[in-house]
Amino acid sequence: MGNWSLPQAPLTVRAYPGAVKLGRRQFLIAGVGAGGRALAGPLAPDATASPRRFESPPPPATDPFTLGVASGDPDATSVVLWTRLAPDPLGGGGMPPGDVPVTVEVATDPGFASGMITQEATALEQYAHSVHVTISGLDPDSWYHYRFRLGDWTSAVGRTRTAPDPTVEPDSARIAVASCQNYRQGLYTAHRHLAAEGVDLVMWLGDYIYESGGRTPGPVRPHNSDQVTDLTGYRNRYASYKLDPDLQAAHAAAPWVVTWDDHEVDNNYAGDHSQDDDPVDVFRARRAAAYQAWYEHQPVRLPPPAGPDYAIHRTVRWGSLVTFLVLDSRQYRDAQPCGDGVAVECAERTGPRQMLGADQEAWLAAEVGAADTRWNALVQQVVFGYTPILGTLFNLDQWDGYAAARQRVTDLLAGGAGCPLVLSGDIHAFGFGDLLRSAEDTASPVIGAEIVSGSISSTPAVALEAIKGALLTDNPHIRYVNGANNGYVVATLSAETLSAEYRLVSTIAQPGGTISTATTQRVSCADFDRRPDTPTTTPPTVTPTTTTTTQHTPTTGAPAQPVKAAPRFTG
Ligand code: FE
Ligand code: CA
Repeated sequence: MGNWSLPQAPLTVRAYPGAVKLGRRQFLIAGVGAGGRALAGPLAPDATASPRRFESPPPPATDPFTLGVASGDPDATSVVLWTRLAPDPLGGGGMPPGDVPVTVEVATDPGFASGMITQEATALEQYAHSVHVTISGLDPDSWYHYRFRLGDWTSAVGRTRTAPDPTVEPDSARIAVASCQNYRQGLYTAHRHLAAEGVDLVMWLGDYIYESGGRTPGPVRPHNSDQVTDLTGYRNRYASYKLDPDLQAAHAAAPWVVTWDDHEVDNNYAGDHSQDDDPVDVFRARRAAAYQAWYEHQPVRLPPPAGPDYAIHRTVRWGSLVTFLVLDSRQYRDAQPCGDGVAVECAERTGPRQMLGADQEAWLAAEVGAADTRWNALVQQVVFGYTPILGTLFNLDQWDGYAAARQRVTDLLAGGAGCPLVLSGDIHAFGFGDLLRSAEDTASPVIGAEIVSGSISSTPAVALEAIKGALLTDNPHIRYVNGANNGYVVATLSAETLSAEYRLVSTIAQPGGTISTATTQRVSCADFDRRPDTPTTTPPTVTPTTTTTTQHTPTTGAPAQPVKAAPRFTG
């Protein structure tokens, strides 16, 4: 992906496919103040009455900043800041027609007394009056505070930071890894604790919203509507989630790097295939609505989408320490093999199938090939490592359902200069494991590590927890499993080591849950088998209904009729 930024100057706006076309007056509005630092100091009290704004709608009579603020996708000198004007957040937003100029203020202190940058931005009606503004000219490896203003209204203050200079190796990068925040199923207590961690970045691996209905109180609280399928529905669903003060606190605490998984659109969708096999044109229209609403509510350094095809894969570099490769394993994948779900495999599982799609995979190959950082970290959705369950079952929505594609990506990572790390979510369970050189040969060399983060609030995978003893015994490359709790992972990367702290909340059913560290998993890059060798692009050979684990006998008996007996794991 290129170095996208959102409309600040008219020429840039016109460069985006499908971007809003600004009229002459809006052209002038958008151009004012664009391009970096303006004079320091507070706004003049009558700034909203200045002539260049007189055709804008009047500021709303109630607070437009109900959804908080966010920042994301930092590089060494800039960061994307986000908000959305929504005085009536659950009723479509409540803004009158027309684009609205807002002011963004950035300072080096929380009192906005020093290093002040004031910049104009535009809340575009076409995108639900969301604001995505790139603040440039910042210092590398530095923290900032920011807020938005509209009329007499001022947003909450957010804290964000830039990446280290690309040539500089910081002592460490401290990142939170999080996913899966079903609103009905739990409180966002984990976010409240995450906000206090002081991490450099939050990696969001998907399931930011759940599209399902449930207006009756769920296990914990109700959804705002029935299942969402159109733009208005998705917008209101995002708004209902983003009203949560704990989620707002987590966004305000650090920049996020966001990708999506299935529930931002439809459970377990694959490419153009919906879960319920809707007609392709119907599902693509739904996907377009869902992707647009995702863009409107995330602090991403991306152009707005124009229809159902939306490339979001991108790179975030952290000095010379880490190259974060943000992937999309939903939009381009082939349908799940062998009937999806958790099932005995079929020949299709190891066949020539796509997970990332040819274009994204070629992009990944080029990025990994060019990366000169200590680490290459995949920021992606579903469990990557080989995870046979009770010897013969596979979760076919995971990379296990796309074995040949997994081996190709493994070959890329093994051939890269950096130490491989994969970040995964989706499964509502925590895990830590070795990346195997030959992905389905548990005796093959270890080339990297995988962190699987559990869910923020979605119901944990208790079925997985129930069989984790067998899972760990059968799969020595899996070092840790927890399907009982909610929380997140805090990972610290240094030049040689990775330390992953697994943070669990005591309860998400009522307020006041406490946080504790269940385990700290450590690996050293020096322990990885980094010898250059010839990548094996041959897909692994797997014989159905037998385990390929040759050194470790499954702890359970014969896998009789496992399809019907399959535990239900759904992310
Ligand atoms: Fe999930
Ligand atoms: Ca999922």
